[in-house]
Amino acid sequence: MQGIITEIQRFSVHDGPGIRTTIFFKGCNLRCFWCHNPETHRMEPELQLQLVRCIGCGACFAVCPHEAHQMVDGQRAFLRERCQACGRCAAECFAEALVLIGRRVEVEEVMAEVRADRPFYANSGGGVTLSGGEPLLQPAFCRALLAACRAEGIHTAIETAADVPWERIEGLLPLLDLVMLDIKTLDDGVHRASTGVSNARILENARRLGATGKPLIVRTPVVPGVNDQVEAIGAIARFAAGLPGLVRYELLPFHPMAANKYDSLGRSYAARTLPRPAPEAMETLAAAARACGVEVRCGQS
Ligand code: SF4
Ligand code: SF4
Repeated sequence: MQGIITEIQRFSVHDGPGIRTTIFFKGCNLRCFWCHNPETHRMEPELQLQLVRCIGCGACFAVCPHEAHQMVDGQRAFLRERCQACGRCAAECFAEALVLIGRRVEVEEVMAEVRADRPFYANSGGGVTLSGGEPLLQPAFCRALLAACRAEGIHTAIETAADVPWERIEGLLPLLDLVMLDIKTLDDGVHRASTGVSNARILENARRLGATGKPLIVRTPVVPGVNDQVEAIGAIARFAAGLPGLVRYELLPFHPMAANKYDSLGRSYAARTLPRPAPEAMETLAAAARACGVEVRCGQS
């Protein structure tokens, strides 16, 4: 069973309890304009070019069969529309200015890396987290990975926006110890404008998930102008308080550190000048959420 991922991150402490191995799936069906993982948006492999690293050696010019690397008006140019993501230029780029993002991996390849981290899970209460991107766009790969972890007694968690058919979530629940569900806003108009999709299916799935009693952490990325108001966070907190499986509610402040990633992928970044919410503002929002009767933690996005 194969899936496509961008990265396996070891020693992660922000993706669930303890020390974790986080597997970032490639492909997402939301387009949150503030997303700090744009390399996970598309399902297909894609080439990243970090111009600041380029030493102008010309190796990529020589190997690209589609002449995607060229000199135009005396400047190094990457004609992205020509690129077929074969990875040949990245293999030749010793400066690591070119990196092919996205690799197809077998479950066993992932498990080999996971096993190397097992000693860290035992002492910290950690395990494996499926993240992304949206892991649930690759349900068969999720299932196979989670089953492999379960067979070896490894704690399993998933980070999801849950904008998928309920049956897809339900089928994986027996293999999951923890679900971390993103809820950005209860306002459907704001949700559509800022993520590209309605929140109707997400909220319905959240209700259903809550009703199963499966341990659930609801998380909200706090984004200026989207949901950084006491009313918006209070509404989500009240909704979360009604979910029987809720462990806690987490607020994750937006950070504007993804600009280089967008540039290196040739994408525009609408959140480039957005400020990070101040700690005092986060505390005010956390207090408003606590007042709704939920345990609240301010985390790191
Ligand atoms: S191979 Fe790398 S360092 Fe050399 S010109 Fe191409 S991008 Fe620049
Ligand atoms: S990944 Fe392949 S097609 Fe794309 S620029 Fe590099 S060599 Fe050319």
